[in-house]
Amino acid sequence: MPRSQIPPQPRAVRVQTSRMHTAHPEVRRARVDVAALKRDALIEEVVGRYGVELRSAGRALVGRCPFHDDQGRANLYIYPDTDSYYCYRCNVGGDAIDFVERIEHVDFRGAVERLSGRWRNTTSAARMSQRHAALPRRGPHNDRAVRTNDPAASDRAGTADAGQAHDVAERACLAAAVELYENQLRAETRGREYIEARGLHWSTAARFRLGYAGAQELADFLRWRRLSLTAARRAGLLTADGREVLAGRIVVPEIRVGDVHWLIGRAIDPDMEPRYLGLRGKKPLLGWEAAGKAPAIVLVEGVFDVLVLHQWEIPALALVGTHARPDIMASLARFERVYVALDRDDAGAAATATLLLELGPRAVPVTLPAIPGVKDVADLALLPDGQRLFARALLEARQHPSGMSVAATGSKAPAPRPTRSVRRTANAA
Ligand SMILES: [Zn+2]
Repeated sequence: MPRSQIPPQPRAVRVQTSRMHTAHPEVRRARVDVAALKRDALIEEVVGRYGVELRSAGRALVGRCPFHDDQGRANLYIYPDTDSYYCYRCNVGGDAIDFVERIEHVDFRGAVERLSGRWRNTTSAARMSQRHAALPRRGPHNDRAVRTNDPAASDRAGTADAGQAHDVAERACLAAAVELYENQLRAETRGREYIEARGLHWSTAARFRLGYAGAQELADFLRWRRLSLTAARRAGLLTADGREVLAGRIVVPEIRVGDVHWLIGRAIDPDMEPRYLGLRGKKPLLGWEAAGKAPAIVLVEGVFDVLVLHQWEIPALALVGTHARPDIMASLARFERVYVALDRDDAGAAATATLLLELGPRAVPVTLPAIPGVKDVADLALLPDGQRLFARALLEARQHPSGMSVAATGSKAPAPRPTRSVRRTANAA
């Protein structure tokens, strides 16, 4: 029967006496056998499905209650022998159906649907995806690349340095985290103020989907989205006890072809250590998609350096530090010119020398203006004429390439072409 012909359903869907509901075709067809449902969907499996980790305690299983902020001693008890659960803090309990109703904010019918066929389908789908975890990242989450079967998509994704191997469940968690943090940045004054203090515009924050991990809400959010907390732990978003790894930080994602590859968080609190904290896994070059197909790029050290340059519409990539692994060097090989604009300090100078040697004539060192308080490109963003000063430094580098291997080429290096119109940038500044 087409959906449009389904008669309107009554609002009260819970039939207390029989726990049967006859309005929904699927449910009616199945003539809900609650006992059978419970046999199929064991309470401990159902609860575990929502990311609650259980350990045994006598005849019961114990875990953290998802209905309150369950710190310290866990309060949620699961009793497999009676197919029931009870939270001794919330004083709520019931069977598996009740648990699903409560955690998903659905009615009896919704919970039954979840626990019947659909539940098993999603469960087996999830298990399948776990089994395929080792396969390269082409999956439903990266569906643009799959659907179009676009060979350029893998090029855009930057295969050379992208060492992440997240499975489907991890990618879903990373994507959800970016979404949550983005919303928290909008909502929280502290995060917004920090972004502004670094000289970044709102349009830049939105373009690069910057976020703020402000409120220890990730675990709840993932539960609500029915995502696996275990996968979130694997991805490095949550600690073993469910706390947020990036809490209290501005979060900068590296997103390629819609796929979140990596996150790095910058502490807002000046006393917080370390100042930068990246998720586990190989750190990629940041800014890959925004750098696009530019023949020349500016290579910088820091997360904010690369954001500032993109704000100025200059194609750029960040090493996130000074070390360039061999696969990073391989990624850089596709550019005709790499303007190396690392920090004005000893580590920056040493890394610049190494990069010039390894990249050969395509590398051009950029000397940042010697202004007190200016150590990197991000510092320039705080000066009223910072953008102009950087443009001048870039021009000087291009006209007088002083690097030893560059000097041998003699010719002028191509300038990094603005990603959009220069006039627009000038107006925006
Ligand atoms: Zn509780």
